[in-house]
Amino acid sequence: MRYTDIAIIGGGLAGSTAAAMLGRAGISALLVDPHEVYPFDFRVEKLSGDTQLDRFYRTGIADSVLRSATHDGENWIARFGYLLDKKPSRQFGIMYDALIMAIRAEIPKPAELVYAKVTDVSTSDDRQKITLSNGEAISARLVVLANGLNVGLRRNLGIERQVISACHSISIGFDLAPVGRAAFAFPALTYFSERPSERIPYLTLFPVGNKMRANLFAYREADDPWLREMRHKPVETMNAALPRLRRITGEYTVSGEVKIRPADLYVCTGYRRPGIVLVGDAFATTCPVTGTGTDKVLSDVTQLCNVHIPAWLATERMNAAKIASYYEDPVKQACDAWSMAKAFSFRKVTLDRGIYWRTQRLARFLAWFGEGSLRRLRKAISAESKAHAHSSSSSSSSSSSSLSSSA
Ligand SMILES: Cc1cc2nc3c(=O)[nH]c(=O)nc-3n(C[C@H](O)[C@H](O)[C@H](O)COP(=O)(O)OP(=O)(O)OC[C@H]3O[C@@H](n4cnc5c(N)ncnc54)[C@H](O)[C@@H]3O)c2cc1C
Repeated sequence: MRYTDIAIIGGGLAGSTAAAMLGRAGISALLVDPHEVYPFDFRVEKLSGDTQLDRFYRTGIADSVLRSATHDGENWIARFGYLLDKKPSRQFGIMYDALIMAIRAEIPKPAELVYAKVTDVSTSDDRQKITLSNGEAISARLVVLANGLNVGLRRNLGIERQVISACHSISIGFDLAPVGRAAFAFPALTYFSERPSERIPYLTLFPVGNKMRANLFAYREADDPWLREMRHKPVETMNAALPRLRRITGEYTVSGEVKIRPADLYVCTGYRRPGIVLVGDAFATTCPVTGTGTDKVLSDVTQLCNVHIPAWLATERMNAAKIASYYEDPVKQACDAWSMAKAFSFRKVTLDRGIYWRTQRLARFLAWFGEGSLRRLRKAISAESKAHAHSSSSSSSSSSSSLSSSA
């Protein structure tokens, strides 16, 4: 039997970040995951936006982890084949396996990794016991359950999933390459849907290393034949669905495997128990279209490791009333509610033909157009004033040099 303060089950984004934060805080923790080398998994492939990156910085490991990612610096926004804006961007492309390995490299002692599968968990007000596939057992004051979508362990504990929206969206990931040119004209691109009938909210293209990665999202059933077409004839299927995309990208080809993954929205029930706390996808999922899954994971983990665990460890026992403070944390609750609301509003703004949502679509288009036009105008004014300053400084230096030569 190994003894620790915190046993973390699952070393994906949530569990690995928690282990890194606890280790840095000097709290003894064991992170248990079967994979020593994280396998390819189609999950989040970029960290982006001020809110998400600020959350990542609160973990204390962002600087080192982001060194393994590709920063694009500028994201082009387009719709209906029109380029609306070239936005300065804080997007960092990184494949999920590389992200997890970079986070794990930041786990210091007294936190440690154990490579095994957890086969059983029993919890109480006092100490918790987890049993591993290699026959070992761990005794901990608290179990952090970060095992993602895996339902087996939760069910053993009487924690169930309540599906809010089955197959809410489909995520499709692949690599895109330009045809007949060395590179695309844009550093990164977000291309919004052309018509509701195609059921596509947007396509995002962003660099990861020397490749251009594509994440395309769709609101379709898991058995929709369109997905088969997308898998076997991705270029033709995308050209049919987004006919004016090539005005921005030029001709392109798809290389490598096309990964297709449906996502259900669910929240857990029956999770208020002694000795165990749920984080990340183990607690609830969100829709990948919103790009807020990482926000939820990071909000859970930073509140848990910065606020709640240090307070819980300072007193005896680990009862359900104590752990409830995490589920009732206003920061966690606000992030979960924001993410869930976004999952439904994104779907509505893509598909709904009602007057309210049509107006929303138009308003968004005009807002991007307005923002882009203002940015172009500001750039032109600044270029002109620079040129003016340059010409007046060179004319004054030429007049002073002619004065000095006449002297
Ligand atoms: C296709 C797709 C695209 C996405 N795109 C985005 C995006 O663009 N932006 C965004 O913010 N979010 C996105 N998300 C959401 C984001 O990827 C997830 O919210 C996040 O990865 C969840 O991390 P996690 O650690 O909770 O779960 P996971 O990463 O699934 O980790 C679970 C871990 O538990 C381990 N495990 C399972 N069972 C056991 C066991 N019995 N014993 C030990 N270990 C176990 C697994 O090996 C795994 O390492 C996307 C999700 C999907 C599916």
